[in-house]
Parts: sequence; structure tokens; C-alpha cells
Amino acid sequence: MKDIGFVGLGVMGAPMAAHLLQAGFAVRVWNRTAEKAEALLAQGARRATTPAEAAAGAEAIITMVADDEALRHVVHGSDGILYSLSAGGVHLTMGTVSPQLLRQLTHEHRECGTHLLAAPVFGSKESAVGKKLWAVVGGQAAAFERCRPVIEAMCAGGTYLGEDPGAAAQMKLIINMLISTAVAALVQAFTLGRAGGLAADKLTEVVRRVFASPLYERYGTRLEKRDFDVYFPLKLMLKDLRLVLEMAAAAGVPLPHAAATREMVVAAIGRGFADADAAASLLRTWEATG
Ligand code: NAP
Repeated sequence: MKDIGFVGLGVMGAPMAAHLLQAGFAVRVWNRTAEKAEALLAQGARRATTPAEAAAGAEAIITMVADDEALRHVVHGSDGILYSLSAGGVHLTMGTVSPQLLRQLTHEHRECGTHLLAAPVFGSKESAVGKKLWAVVGGQAAAFERCRPVIEAMCAGGTYLGEDPGAAAQMKLIINMLISTAVAALVQAFTLGRAGGLAADKLTEVVRRVFASPLYERYGTRLEKRDFDVYFPLKLMLKDLRLVLEMAAAAGVPLPHAAATREMVVAAIGRGFADADAAASLLRTWEATG
């Protein structure tokens, strides 16, 4: 596999596409906001003027867009990738979207003689830049084998979950629920620690000793340093919580921690933090309300 299309050059997509170029793939890129492609063009990518043009002639088209609506937008319609991807081509979707949409797209691709492979990723901006993402993969086994070098050019590796792309979305949403509820708990701990006069670096040190976890390490350090860079936009955390709560409601499984975390996120979005970093925004909101 050599010719790749890449759609969605946000916080995650831009460094992922850069890894493909560094690995020697020929990459044609499209992003809704065209300027975000400039840095990749300077590194050797070619510009596509529509998602369809990014997919035309590509063996695989990667999408790394925000949500279900964005994915539908780049797949469907006369400028969408669905009807321009050649027979046998693979649509590798790596954003976090609903299992239902992935199952619908699997069917639509099959009708067109193409394949859908879902590979949502764990890790944040630093992991994308450092090629440390971990993918959970669902879709046809043969499509996975063909795309394995592409995934390995962007990620540390992946876990294959079988033929159903929806399973990859379910796994991603369940683990994201664990992450967002842990981040919300950490934010509350830092807010209470600060209010009580505890030093943030000592709190991080003890958290690190008690919970040997990359998650507590990463988020604890960011909260301690009051790092307000955008690693994961808050509006995307709300989207993931909404999707996991819908999934849980359909299965009849209550998720009280996720529901409480969603309320914290709604409060922070109400303060104007939708596009700001999730953990940083929750901290600022909780400090202001605590
Ligand atoms: P981001 O920086 O907000 O980028 C979102 C991308 O989607 C941009 O390219 C944006 O285009 C595009 N987009 C949004 N709405 C669109 C529409 N209606 N039509 C076409 N394109 C549209 O988000 P990100 O952090 O890269 O995340 C991308 C995906 O990966 C999301 O599903 C997210 O949940 C998931 N994810 C994120 C992280 C993280 O830590 N950031 C980690 C794992 C997974 P514009 O540039 O024009 O806005």
C-alpha cells in the first residue's frame, strides 16, 4: 500500500498524516479549513480540493474528523469519499464516532465494493506526535492486514477486535468513559487540595505513588503545571460522554459517574470552554464554582 488519502487535519490528524509522509507514503490531504494543510504540503503532501479527490485513486482513505456529523459530511454527497474510492479500497476511520454509524457505513461501503475499517485511537496530542497512539481495530481481517503498515506508521500498535467495526467504537467509548471520569475526579482532587492549601506538586507526587498509571501521570502533571494547551477539546469529551450514555441506556446499564461527569462538562461549556482543553477547562470551572 502506497497511496493514501487523509481527511481531517485537526489536533490529532495533522501529526498522524505527518508520520505517513515520514514513512514514505504518498499522501493527499483535505481539511475543511484549508489552511491547516499548509504545514503538511511543505512536508510533501498533495492538496485535494474535496474529500472525494483525496479518496480517488487511493488504496486507503483515512478519516480523522470530529464526530458522526463530520464523518457523514466527508463520506456522503457528491464531494464525499464513498463513491470515489476505487473498488477494493479501504476507508480507515480513526476518529471517535458511534457504533451505529460505523455499522451503517460498513453496509454502504460493501454496496460500493469497498471496505470500512474502524481504528479509533487512545492517546492525545503528545502521543500522536510521538507515535505512541494505541488503536482498537474492527473490520474485515484482510483489510486490517493490508492497512497494518499504515496503522503502524502512525501508532505504537493496535488490538484487533474482529469483523465488526462497531465493536471498536464500543471499546473506545467505554475506555474513554474511564478516562473522563478519572480526569473529573482528579480535577476535584486538585481543586480541593488547592482550597485546603496543599502544594500541587506534592499532590501529584502522592497520586503518582498510589496510582502507577500513565493516565494519572499525564493528567496529574498537566493539572499540577496548570498547562492550558489544547490536547483534547472539551466539546469532544461531551460528544464521547453523550455517545457512551446513549449506548448504556440502550443496554439498560446505568453509568452514574459518566452522567455526573457530563454535568461538569456542560457547566464548563456554559462558561465558554467548548474549544478549550477538556481537563484544563474542568479545572478552571471547578475552581470557580468550588
Ligand atoms: P479537532 O482538532 O477538533 O479536529 C477535528 C477535525 O474534524 C478537524 O479537521 C475539523 O475540520 C474536522 N471537522 C469537524 N467538523 C467537520 C465537518 N462538519 N465537516 C468536515 N470536517 C469537520 O479534533 P481532534 O482532537 O483532532 O480529534 C479528532 C477525532 O479523534 C475526534 O473524534 C476525537 O474524539 C478523536 N480523538 C481525539 C483525541 C485527542 O486527545 N485530541 C484522542 C483520541 C481520539 P476544521 O479544521 O475545519 O475544524
